[in-house]
Order: sequence, then C-alpha cells, then structure tokens
Amino acid sequence: MTTPVVGIDIGGTKTAAALVDRAGRVLERREAPTPARAGPEAVLGVAARLATDLLGATTGPVGVGTAGTVDPATGGIRYATDSLPGWTGTPVADALAARLGREVRVTNDVNAAALGESWAGAGRDRAHVLLVAVGTGLGGALVRDGRVEAGARGAAGEVGHLPAPGAEQLRCGCGRYGHLEALASGSGLAAAYAIETGTHLTGRTVAERAATGDGVARLVVERAGAVLGATLAGLVALLDPDAVLVTGGAASSLLPAASVSYSAELASGWADVPLLPATLGADAVLVGAARLAIDTPERTDR
Ligand SMILES: [Zn+2]
Repeated sequence: MTTPVVGIDIGGTKTAAALVDRAGRVLERREAPTPARAGPEAVLGVAARLATDLLGATTGPVGVGTAGTVDPATGGIRYATDSLPGWTGTPVADALAARLGREVRVTNDVNAAALGESWAGAGRDRAHVLLVAVGTGLGGALVRDGRVEAGARGAAGEVGHLPAPGAEQLRCGCGRYGHLEALASGSGLAAAYAIETGTHLTGRTVAERAATGDGVARLVVERAGAVLGATLAGLVALLDPDAVLVTGGAASSLLPAASVSYSAELASGWADVPLLPATLGADAVLVGAARLAIDTPERTDR
C-alpha cells in the first residue's frame, strides 16, 4: 500500500485533519475551532467535515487522536475533562465510522503523539519510546514495539500521578496532593509561583519570566524540571525504553533542568537512553493517528 491516510486530532480548542503519506509526512492539513460548548455531536461533525475534504485521495481506515481516555476495545471515550463537555461516553469510533463510511481507529491524543514521534519524529526508528507531554497538565504515553501500550483502561503511561518530592502542598488536576503534575505542568508552575510571590500568572508567563531574569520564576521552573527529570530517570529503569521524549508548551522551559537531574539519576545500565525534545510539534497527534490507521489489522469477519 502506498496511498496516504487521514489522521484526525480532536482537542479541547481545535480540531485538525491531515493527509499523511506512508513515510509520516503531512501532505495536507485542515483545521477548525472545536465547538466544545456545542456538545459531542457538533465536535464529531467538525471532525468529519475536515476529514471528508481529504478522504478522496485515500482508501482504508481513518485514525483519530482525541482528548480523553479512550476505551481500547470500543474506541469510545471512557473519561474526558470539562475541556470537552459531554465527551465522556461518546462512541467516537462508531460515530465517525458512520459519518465517514470508513473503519475508524481511536486513541488518546498523547498516545497518538507518542506513536507519531516514534514513527516520524524524535523517536524515529526507536521501537520503545516513553513520551511525556507538559502542557496545562502532564500526560504520558508508551510505545512498545512500535505500538501504543494502551493498558487495560487506555490510560497506561499517565506519569502525572506519580508521587513527587516537593509537591506535597500542591493539588494535582486529579484532586489529590503530591503528584508530579502538580509541579511539572503549566498549572503547576502557575501554582508554585503564586505560593512564592502571591502573584497569579499563567504557566506560560512564569516560563517566559524565568527566561528573562525573574529569579523566583527561574527557581520554580528549575525545581519542576529537576523533579521531572529525576522521575523520568526512574521510569527508564522500569520501562527500559530506547528514548524518552518531552513535548508540550512547557517542554522547552523544563528540559534544561530536567536533563541535568535525568542524567544524574539514571541507573548505570541505562546511561545511553537519551532524553530528547519532541520534533513534530502540533503535527504529532495527526501523524500518530495516521500511523494508527496504517497499523489497523485487516478485518476478516466481514
Ligand atoms: Zn494526580
């Protein structure tokens, strides 16, 4: 097969579809705001419209990376946050298959990003990749033998809820205290900065200030990066990947401190496992979704 495939990225603020060739290159791309407040039917409608524009050049299945935890058996949403109201319970695979007339494979967007990066990005030619996504929150995903390791609930690789030293007073997105996400995420940077200064800024602004000489912001960013790096080093010993990749809006600000503690904490048997910035940026989910479509096993039951 040499024809391109279509990958779809459904996020809380924007939805995109892309025509991706068999080398993981994006040939064409469509994007629109996600009508999150209008509900799941409207979101699915936008995703289907964007994909339909590109389907003519393709045959076979369509892949989707979406916000939320995806049931690996059904391609439906087990759980989603308020960024997509009503998305929990939405049968994304079946609903899009009905609209597109194609088989549809669905995974979580961070899983898709890991698959994309391991195929055509920073993890190219590496079979086993751990990816962490540092955005507003902290997500993670695992690719083993070139396939997403979804776990029993579609939630394997969620590194954000590991215990983290220094996070004891900080509330995680899951509601508990002391988790890595409460430190090493945009919201974590914002919360830590507010505790230190009484000033409430976005995580992005804290990262920007750290780069331009605000000593408190730099301390907050370095502390978060150091804990992230040390935690990832421990995970390397558990998971034995070929590489660890970091993506997301806060990745570049956390990586310098994370790299130092990562190297310092790596057990000797894994000293050659690199910690790398992801390279596909906003295309990672689309490319990974396309890879998911390519990897769809031939159906024999119909
Ligand atoms: Zn948590």
